[in-house]
Order: sequence, then C-alpha cells, then structure tokens
Amino acid sequence: MDLRSFTIAELREQVARAGEPPFRAEQVFRWLHGLGSGGIGSVRIPLASSTVPRALRDLLLANAPLAPLSLAETFASSDGTQKFRFQTHDGRAIETVLIPDDKQERSKLTLCISSQAGCAWGCAFCATATLGFGRHLTAGEIVEQLYWVMEKVGQKPTNIVFMGMGEPLHNVEQVTRALANISHPWGAGLSPRRITVSTSGVVTGIDLLAKTRPLPNLAISLNATTDDIRSQLMPVNRRWNLEALLAAARRFPLGHHRRITFEYVLFAGVNDSDIDAARIPRLLANIPSKVNLIPWNPVPGLPFQRPSEQRILAFQNLVRRADLPVYIRTPRGDDTAAACGQLAARSRDASADLFDIKATRHVS
Ligand code: SAH
Ligand code: SF4
Repeated sequence: MDLRSFTIAELREQVARAGEPPFRAEQVFRWLHGLGSGGIGSVRIPLASSTVPRALRDLLLANAPLAPLSLAETFASSDGTQKFRFQTHDGRAIETVLIPDDKQERSKLTLCISSQAGCAWGCAFCATATLGFGRHLTAGEIVEQLYWVMEKVGQKPTNIVFMGMGEPLHNVEQVTRALANISHPWGAGLSPRRITVSTSGVVTGIDLLAKTRPLPNLAISLNATTDDIRSQLMPVNRRWNLEALLAAARRFPLGHHRRITFEYVLFAGVNDSDIDAARIPRLLANIPSKVNLIPWNPVPGLPFQRPSEQRILAFQNLVRRADLPVYIRTPRGDDTAAACGQLAARSRDASADLFDIKATRHVS
C-alpha cells in the first residue's frame, strides 16, 4: 500500500515502530494530506519542508512509496465543467470531473472522482463498462485526484461524489480509507455529509459501508422498476435483485433528515413509461429517499436514446405527485464527454488511446 492510503491509526503504529514520539503521527498525516502552509495548491507533493524529520519521512516512504498520478490531459467544457485525465504509475487511465454550480446562491463546486480503472459490472448503457475492469485504485490514488484538482484550480471542492469511473462498493476497503482521510480535520476536512458514494447495487458493499465511519451519503443507481428490465440494463441485478437491493437500502443507517438518493437514468422506450413512474414511489416506500432523474448521456455505439424533454418532464410530474422529491439532473460537460457515465471512453478507439502512454499529451 502507498503511504497516502494509511489511516491515522496505522500511521500512529508506523511512527511508534520507528521509535518516534506519538505527536509525530499528526505531523506525518498533515505532511501527507494537510493543506499545509503552501496553501491548497501544495498538498499534492508532500515533499516540501515539513516538521517531520527527514529520516522519518525517508523511512516511511521506503516502506510504502507514494503511488503518484500524473496529469495527462485536461478538457474544459463550455458550461464550466473541467475534466482531468490522469495516468497511474502503472499506465492506467482514470478521469475526474469538476462541476461548478453557480446557479446556487452559495456556489457549489462538486468533484466527481473515480474509484477504479474501468469497471467490472458491465452496465449496458455506460461508457466505463466498455473498458472492462482494470484494477481497484488505492486510497492514495483516490485522494490524489482531489489534491491534483485543488492544485490546478486553487480551490477546494465543496462536495465530492464517487460517480466517476468504477464501482466504489466493489472497492470498499480503499474507498473507506479515502473517505476517512479526506474528511479528517488534519486533511482536506470535507464533511462526510458532503460526500456521496454511488453504487449500482452491490449489496455486500452497501452493508459494509453501513458499518464504516465516517458515514457518507449513499446514492443507488435504480435505473429500472422491474427485475426484468433492470437485469438487462445492469447485470448486477442478476446477483442482487430489486428486493435484495431495496432491503439493503432500508437497513442503511441514516442520520436525522438524511435521505438515500436514487438515480434513475432515463432511456426512451425502455424505462420511461407512466407505469414506471408510478412504480418508483411504491418501490421506495418506507425508505427516506429522493430521486434524481438523469437523461441518458449518449455513448457512441450504444443502442439507447434520451427521451424527449416533454417525456422527461411528464415522468418527473408523475413521480412528484407521490410526494417524493424528484429532480432532473441536467447533464453537465457533455460537449467534452465529461458527463455521468461517459468517462474514459468517448469510443472504443479513444479508450485504446487512453492506455497508450505515448499517445497521451502532457500539459504543464
Ligand atoms: N458505479 C457507480 C458509480 C459510477 S456511475 C454506479 O453505477 O452508481 C454514476 C452514475 O452514472 C450512475 O447512476 C449510472 O447509472 C450513471 N450513468 C452511467 N452511464 C450513464 C450515461 N451514459 N448517461 C447518464 N448516466 C449514466
Ligand atoms: Fe460500472 Fe457504474 Fe458504469 Fe455500471 S454504471 S458499468 S457499475 S461505472
């Protein structure tokens, strides 16, 4: 494991094993994750001056070297969304998207991060699925996406969503380490209430996440109202069907006034009928929930269509009549293929490029 993947408890052990006094653990954590005296932009490369003695730093890094990401390319979209393409030390491509939302009074800056290179779950509508599974990212690689973006834009995001590449609850171990480190007050200090983990419905992962602290918000990609359609769209449903998934949602511990977000990607003629709309509130009965409707973002070569605007609004009205909060999430950054579910593969050809180090342009 790379050093940035260690929890504070593990760093305490390392420090003790090195024969150093306990207070060094805080210094080490701040050196690895703190915003530091150099400001937001200095956190990524923890090699600047530090209160941690050089010998201790060298020892820790020798035992668990960092697994740095290199920034391969950035794309800016006309709506202010920025996409960052990174390369891992072993040549995997991953993507991170920064989404400003200036419509809100208090400006929201959401960072959408990846938890795996590729994804194993093969959803029929998702660009990441076309890559297949590469590997899990380490917690260090997950948090470094945040640190790189802070360095590039000089701002700390207000919210983090695990909705980039990969299935975070297939990588619970590293995701929970990353959650602990980015929400720690000695690090970026992001409140877990502002962090959302999105899952396709990996029930064992939901149950594991439920036991971890800090507890983030949970989003579940529902995407269909019958097992038949859901299994066609999302193979995960063959392992855990709607009943099993919703039972896990019901068990998930929620704080006061908290809700589970159910994402529902709309496909014309597949899951956008009046009957589907009527089934949603029935399925979610007894679960404090809200629904985000996401008009499908086209992925070249995939056989789906986005419903008309009229159909989307009609669908929303039908769900809303049941007193369920329901929002339409307008796709952001779709001119740079930065929108949900479009990450890392504009097409199969483009994805081939991603894995070719020589073909990657470097930005300074
Ligand atoms: N693996 C996790 C998180 C990453 S996908 C999950 O599936 O939840 C994040 C969200 O994007 C999910 O709700 C998924 O259903 C949605 N999504 C995937 N491909 C999409 C596409 N082409 N258009 C719109 N949403 C998409
Ligand atoms: Fe994986 Fe989520 Fe895409 Fe499904 S929608 S293939 S789980 S990233």
